[in-house]
Amino acid sequence: MDNDMIVDLIESCKTPFYYFDVEGFIENYHDLNHTFQSIYKNYQLSYSYKTNYTPYICEIVKQLGGYAEVVSDMEYLLAKKIGYENCHIVYNGPAKGELLEEHILNGGIVNVDNYDEMIRICKLAQKYPQIKIKLGLRINMDVGGDFISRFGFELGKTEISDAIRLADNNENVSIVGLHCHISRARGVGAWSARTKTMLEAVKLYFDKVPEYISLGSGMFGKMSEELCSQFGAEVPSYRDYAEAVLQPIAEYFSETEIKPMILTEPGTTLVSRYVYFVTKVLNIKTIRGRNMATTDGSFENLGEICGLKKLPLKIVRRSANPKDYQGVDIMGYTCLEQDVMYKDLKCKLASGDYLVFENVGGYSIVSKPQFIKPNCAMYATGFEGVPIQIMREETFEDVFSKFVFQQKL
Ligand SMILES: *Cc1c(COP(=O)(O)O)cnc(C)c1O
Repeated sequence: MDNDMIVDLIESCKTPFYYFDVEGFIENYHDLNHTFQSIYKNYQLSYSYKTNYTPYICEIVKQLGGYAEVVSDMEYLLAKKIGYENCHIVYNGPAKGELLEEHILNGGIVNVDNYDEMIRICKLAQKYPQIKIKLGLRINMDVGGDFISRFGFELGKTEISDAIRLADNNENVSIVGLHCHISRARGVGAWSARTKTMLEAVKLYFDKVPEYISLGSGMFGKMSEELCSQFGAEVPSYRDYAEAVLQPIAEYFSETEIKPMILTEPGTTLVSRYVYFVTKVLNIKTIRGRNMATTDGSFENLGEICGLKKLPLKIVRRSANPKDYQGVDIMGYTCLEQDVMYKDLKCKLASGDYLVFENVGGYSIVSKPQFIKPNCAMYATGFEGVPIQIMREETFEDVFSKFVFQQKL
């Protein structure tokens, strides 16, 4: 982490704020991308916009050669605005928007989630018989346990055969790809299992080599020792994943001259570690033995992970006489009892100190509601060590300009 830069920002900027470590992000991108490409040449990374759609980050991904993986018209429009051609945008998801047709007619990549969507696309195909439409199918994954995934087609069932038949009935529609994604199974074993299922799908439904197979996302990214230890088992390296996934694929297609493109769609893996959240301690109190520090940030700023793990946390001391706590709960501004950012922190702390939460790049900025307070600004490492603001603080206007006021103000 660029500690000095964060300390400089604390001196000069209003809290709370996010900080994006550009260099760390780029290094991580190269590491993941090169590891996969060194084992399988035709590998392509596709960045999941919903995980963190900060345009500055999406633009870096584009410069590095990554595709855009989108699941709504809003995200699709962002990818277009950033300058992507449709052939480098992957439109996924169970509820695609109105712009799907435009995307398809411009040669975009689409993975069909369900039979009704296939009907929709075939209607489009009939309207534009001169345009060749290529599609992928999302394959449902059985992740075991008591949980049934809602996404994609179940292998071997009538719905998938019907969808393929429907596509085949249209001369200008062809199924050229396969897709899957599970977010709740990040181990190497789960990745081997999904690869097996995808190769099974190739065997069942393809009489030639597919143009692409997208394996979705859900790898562990790099993380600090502190966070790593909370996951129990050892966190695999990119090489572990790449070998488990790409070697069976390379073997399966060893006899064919043309190999399918293999995609993965990292979001969390790419970005989580490289965003920090900086917040100030406003007051500390003790009630019936529970110590609580209230900050100007919130659990909503940290994203889902904050409720699942103890995020790595550093204190930037600005108070003169911090008190020694055996355990203090770090609380947010939201007036919710459950707004706990960190439970039971053992530390020296006083109001006026700053807390730097690490590993908050995934599902944080994108899921921050305008609840009680608008969102804060974000900074990044700029050129020659000067930080730049890559997202301004939201304003009163950002929140309220969309409402109707009965009384003209
Ligand atoms: C959410 C999502 C991703 C990214 O998942 P992460 O857990 O952020 O890596 C990739 N592909 C699809 C289809 C998704 O829905």
